[in-house]
Amino acid sequence: TTGPATILVSGKVHEHVVARIDKAFRLVTIERPDPSLLSDEDIAAVRGLTAFGNVDAALIDAFPNLEIIANFGVGYDSVDAVHAASKNIMVTNTPDVLTEEAADLTVGLLLAVLREIPKAEAWLRQGRWGGQGAYRYSPLSLRGRSIGIFGLGRIGRAVARRLEAFDVPIAYHNRRPVADISYAYHPTLEGLAKAVDTLVCIAPGGAETQKAINARILKALGPEGVLINTGRGSTVDEEALAAALEDGTIAAAGLDVFADEPHVPQVLLGAPNTVLLPHIASASVRTRRAMADLCVDNLVSWFVEKKALTPVPETAHVKAR
Ligand code: NDP
Repeated sequence: TTGPATILVSGKVHEHVVARIDKAFRLVTIERPDPSLLSDEDIAAVRGLTAFGNVDAALIDAFPNLEIIANFGVGYDSVDAVHAASKNIMVTNTPDVLTEEAADLTVGLLLAVLREIPKAEAWLRQGRWGGQGAYRYSPLSLRGRSIGIFGLGRIGRAVARRLEAFDVPIAYHNRRPVADISYAYHPTLEGLAKAVDTLVCIAPGGAETQKAINARILKALGPEGVLINTGRGSTVDEEALAAALEDGTIAAAGLDVFADEPHVPQVLLGAPNTVLLPHIASASVRTRRAMADLCVDNLVSWFVEKKALTPVPETAHVKAR
């Protein structure tokens, strides 16, 4: 084939991604991940794909000449990377460029939950400060807490680094201990939850972590327990969490992610002592632009240099044609 490679953009992706692909490649767009929206010629021409939403095995199989899936975001649980690997298709993500941003938001969410920042602000705006007096003393505080990080990877470590400055002890759970780290390692999530009162989840989504934070883990966290989740909503059993907040099994929760976004279950909207955010951990103008650039840089590098910049582990071995 001659001329620029055809890249398919499916769904609503960052406008800078679309603009750069349009400049460097032949751009084809569809509103939703449905190959029947494309001509047979375009289906055969597609060599690269970037999508907002699921890229499942069926979608991957629809494109006989697909070489690379450039995921916008570091979390790629919505892409069937194992299936892509089996078909010699590269999958890339956007690590590092969002690490510090996501860590900032995670710490902000923790403080917002503990000190009831949104509720206190509402108190002021509703004119209750003057009318009814000072906002209540927050029952919770970061002082004296111990932190457990579920997913001490790039972002988890950046969260831990920040929390060190807050003078709170830090422990963690991963599948494997991290070398050169002095934080206490717990080989099980339940062991971590028992040892701490504040659980910060920044682990990836997917089958292995599906509903890992369940009723048992919340019970282990205990009545002073606080859960912060900026990883993936699928990692939390939302029904169990709502029940645990309702009956005092744990004290409070801060969530940036949900199992079925943008749907937020009524039980969580109604649960006490929660701060709920619409998946914003990496969503500043600056960081989303950097993610957009890395997403497209992977495509450019693949087709020009014959190598991806940031392949996901499952496809690290995949070679350019
Ligand atoms: P990393 O791959 O660097 O870190 C992931 C960590 O999780 C690793 O330490 C890994 O350790 C651990 N982990 C993975 N699987 C398991 C498991 N089954 N059980 C226990 N621990 C596990 O990723 P990042 O830090 O860059 O990003 C982490 C996640 O954060 C992303 O996958 C994404 O889902 C989420 N995220 C959310 C954002 C938001 O907007 N809310 C923004 C950015 C990221 P080990 O391999 O030893 O198990």
